[in-house]
Amino acid sequence: MLGLMQDYQLTVQTILDHAALNHGEREMVTRSIEGPIRRYNYRDLRTRALRVAKALQKEGVVLGDRVATMAWNTDRHVETWYGVMGLGAICHTINPRLFVEQLVYIINHAEDKILFVDLTFVPLIEAIATKLPTIQKYIILTSDSYMPQTTLPNAVAYETWLAGTDADFEWARFDENTAAGLCYTSGTTGNPKGVLYSHRSNVLHSLMCSQNDVIGAKSVDNVLPIVPMFHANAWAITFAIPANGASMIMPGAGMDGKSIYELLDSEKVNVSAAVPTVWLGLLQYLTENDLKLPYLDRVLIGGAAVPRMMIESFENTYDVEVIHGWGMTEMSPIGTTGKLKYATEHLQGEDRIKLKLRQGRPPYLVEMKIVDDEGTELPRDGETSGHLLVRGPAISSGYYKHDENILDEDGWFNTGDIANIDELGYMQITDRDKDVIKSGGEWISSIEIENTAVGCEGVAEAAVIGVAHPKWTERPLLIIVRKPGAEVSAEEVLAYLEGKIAKWWMPEAIEFVDEIPHTATGKIQKMELRKKFGGYQFKEG
Ligand code: ADP
Repeated sequence: MLGLMQDYQLTVQTILDHAALNHGEREMVTRSIEGPIRRYNYRDLRTRALRVAKALQKEGVVLGDRVATMAWNTDRHVETWYGVMGLGAICHTINPRLFVEQLVYIINHAEDKILFVDLTFVPLIEAIATKLPTIQKYIILTSDSYMPQTTLPNAVAYETWLAGTDADFEWARFDENTAAGLCYTSGTTGNPKGVLYSHRSNVLHSLMCSQNDVIGAKSVDNVLPIVPMFHANAWAITFAIPANGASMIMPGAGMDGKSIYELLDSEKVNVSAAVPTVWLGLLQYLTENDLKLPYLDRVLIGGAAVPRMMIESFENTYDVEVIHGWGMTEMSPIGTTGKLKYATEHLQGEDRIKLKLRQGRPPYLVEMKIVDDEGTELPRDGETSGHLLVRGPAISSGYYKHDENILDEDGWFNTGDIANIDELGYMQITDRDKDVIKSGGEWISSIEIENTAVGCEGVAEAAVIGVAHPKWTERPLLIIVRKPGAEVSAEEVLAYLEGKIAKWWMPEAIEFVDEIPHTATGKIQKMELRKKFGGYQFKEG
């Protein structure tokens, strides 16, 4: 027997309708690409998104068409995102940090019809426009007065384009399983793969992130999503924040410590989210200028492991709670958050830091387990590491235009991460499966060594790779970028690591380099490092 409840479709436009009607006065604030701060409210946001949808319909965009954006986090980007999705078209958020060949590949693979592009990226698109036959129109996210001279065919300023259309429009009606968003993974091996979110998965994921132990935004909060909308849905914030009636403050192109500090301060931001690199910039700016963070209450940090010094600095010096998060594009992206819970709330000092260094526990609607190479589930003892598998309604079941089956017979997706899970459900990533270091039959966590090493005075960035060793199969090589002007030596780093990591994890050697290569989502490209240090010989010792 089926239940007798309404057949209410979970589509993302319901989020905007709710926000405009019940939190219409809450603000959307943007540091514009042109410079000045712009502000309006959720009522205006909805009206402008409706105009975008109507204008796109006039352009001939229909259900299922792909419409791309290459843009920073701004009000205009959010209008476009809801406008596209509310029409039943698919918003393809492009990561401008991808290599040029990858950009050409994904735009053609997605067969994008229209491209909304920020002023910043016009030169980048101009350089490849002849290779983008599917794009019929380029809409530059600015007004006429800032419109640049451009070689882009059929280019128009966003405000001019929008001016011709009113908001007398109703959202399209379609099934909640309709595709809403498309985001390509950065593709460290092979071509990028398209993750295709549905309306239903986005709505459920935004409710998931609304759980108190995840982002848990309230209508009184002012939230600054620094993580870009092109980086896995800005970790759901552009959905979850209006859904909860919190104000949204958008950083535009200003990701440096000074710009972020200014917004945190002037907009009294109490919740924010970004990758560790961004926070390093902020913390450095605060120290250099002797500033405090009186309004900031909590920060969500993920995308890469959070270094110990970052947790200590935020929590001890600035009284800001760190929520360590882990996820991936395929998971919409949130998989875990590291909030304390009933059984861990009492932890203090070193025990508390140790728990916060773990990537956290899943919210309701994410299931996870670890398995060995044969697929047998491993114990949750906080030590045994295995392949991390996940399952849930906001996790990919396949890639766009790819036939391969990515789930096992019970519906689990292999994340490609190696992790352990403790008795209380807190998970810790120890490596990517491609990056594991196997020494004398045991696994060494490169992430933990890297994280400890960046706490050493003078170390800006650290990466650990496994290098062949005649006796131990592999041993860790630590590669370090020094802070500008610093002269820290290999002996000093080793002395610092002593006692902080297991003895047999101690790097066999340390090399200093000027730069470590990164992917488009800011991750260390270990493959490149392995190529560079391919024939590395450890000194006899
Ligand atoms: P995102 O960068 O948004 O997390 P990606 O899909 O680009 O999404 O990358 C996902 C991968 O990033 C994960 O599989 C994991 O290897 C790594 N990752 C994400 N968050 C963390 C974290 N907190 N600690 C360690 N690794 C992380």
